[in-house]
Amino acid sequence: MNAAVTTERKTIGHWIGGEAVRGTSGRSGPVYNPATGEQTGEVDFATVEEIDRAVATAKAAASEWRTWSLSKRADLFFRIYQLVDDRRDDLARALTAEHGKVLSDAHGEVQRGIEVIEYVCGIPTLLKGGFSEQAATGIDVYSIRQPLGVVAGITPFNFPVMVPMWMWAPAIACGNAFILKPSEKDPSASLLTAEILKEAGLPDGVFNVIQGDKVAVDRLLENPDIAAISFVGSTPIARYVYENGTKQGKRVQALGGAKNHMVVLPDADIDMAADAAVSAGYGSAGERCMAISVVVVVGEAADALVSAIEERLPSVKVGDGMDPSSEMGPLVTREHRDKVASYLDSGPEQGAKLVADGRETSPNGNGFFLGASLLDNVTPEMDAYRDEIFGPVLSVVRVDSYNEALNLVNENPYGNGVAIFTRDGGVARQFQFEVNVGMVGVNVPIPVPVAYYSFGGWKSSLFGDRHIYGPEGIDFYTRTKAVTSRWPDPKTSRVDLGFPQTR
Ligand code: NAD
Repeated sequence: MNAAVTTERKTIGHWIGGEAVRGTSGRSGPVYNPATGEQTGEVDFATVEEIDRAVATAKAAASEWRTWSLSKRADLFFRIYQLVDDRRDDLARALTAEHGKVLSDAHGEVQRGIEVIEYVCGIPTLLKGGFSEQAATGIDVYSIRQPLGVVAGITPFNFPVMVPMWMWAPAIACGNAFILKPSEKDPSASLLTAEILKEAGLPDGVFNVIQGDKVAVDRLLENPDIAAISFVGSTPIARYVYENGTKQGKRVQALGGAKNHMVVLPDADIDMAADAAVSAGYGSAGERCMAISVVVVVGEAADALVSAIEERLPSVKVGDGMDPSSEMGPLVTREHRDKVASYLDSGPEQGAKLVADGRETSPNGNGFFLGASLLDNVTPEMDAYRDEIFGPVLSVVRVDSYNEALNLVNENPYGNGVAIFTRDGGVARQFQFEVNVGMVGVNVPIPVPVAYYSFGGWKSSLFGDRHIYGPEGIDFYTRTKAVTSRWPDPKTSRVDLGFPQTR
């Protein structure tokens, strides 16, 4: 990669046992400011021994941590909530500096993460079990939730604060110790998070950060002291993590990639649909797993909708994420920017119409920018439709009927998010009933569930049987134990070889 020369590059290490530690492997990766193309840091890649040390530290901390009373844990999470709230600008700036998304969007990311912390402040209620008095004569049965021990989270580059919060907040609140392996592309925010958690009073060793690449991930999958793994990233790696983690007997939830459709019916308000398509297609430069990637427009609405989207694109201000006037920042790396831009060649070569070419509107300089781009007349066999893209290239697929739109969505291998735009409540309800996608928006283009529901896609967008955060997050990070108890008078005791009866 051709980065500009830099003067001061920071070194980014691990966080083990409540303190920052430098890596010892001698292996590292570059971290860039995507808005300038400058390499700003170097992140250490962990060795197997460093990971094992972090896991041993977490294991030792976990046994003490799970003894904390629920009220004490809740108090701590209120302090964490307060400190994260106080430091939200620091977190947002740390992530914009390495990810590139605009600061307002980074603030939005931090906010949605804070809401997961807010949810787990109610951990005493969330961990309530069930109790059945007199399940049999003189016998009570109750279920309790217990932590798993040491759990790990492996996270993607596109939400370096929020996605880790989806994991560590419920995992720790449930009484587990946590090892975070963030993306090597934007690792700094995880260390800031570690400092905040320490300042809030979280015992050392309960939250650890291991920086690294495949070596780190593979060791996390193998280390027998890790009970569960949460993964968020691309589908091939999600499948790999799921298959290998479960093979080692671990509980795994692995969220993968996406290809999110926005279906626009002929009765939809065209201006509203165009606003939504532009917001959800180009927000965060399309680097969201819930970004709209394909607009599926039904019938005669197509020409008007494509014109309305096209009209809006010149006013999307592309620039450095730290500039408050920017609405869309750069892509995360030069390679990714070039890969995304390649669809502007392959699309027209395969028969699509290039309506807006972001290469012409990218800011000059060394940053990894690509302006808002639009392809029309995309068909399902084209690469622009088949691939995730994960950038500011929006495709329009024209179909003749609602059923054709539904089949297109249902036949897609991904099933993360989908939206329908219509004024017909009956059709919207029918769509919600029959679409094979995990998160559905009705006139809402990015239907990320609020923190007290759970987030997760279907098909190749999620491997495992538990969605992330919300009630399913609490399920994922705990295991239940059923206790059957009686306090009989010893005088009534006798030998009985029959199977225990309830009647
Ligand atoms: P990625 O799969 O390249 O990386 C995710 C994590 O896996 C990182 O920590 C990375 O270090 C690690 N990793 C990468 N290659 C590996 C390998 N060969 N072996 C083991 N570990 C490896 O994903 P990314 O590019 O960082 O993030 C973008 C992807 O994440 C997109 O596909 C996006 O849709 C997806 N994503 C999904 C969700 C969701 O909720 N479903 C949310 C955010 C992002």
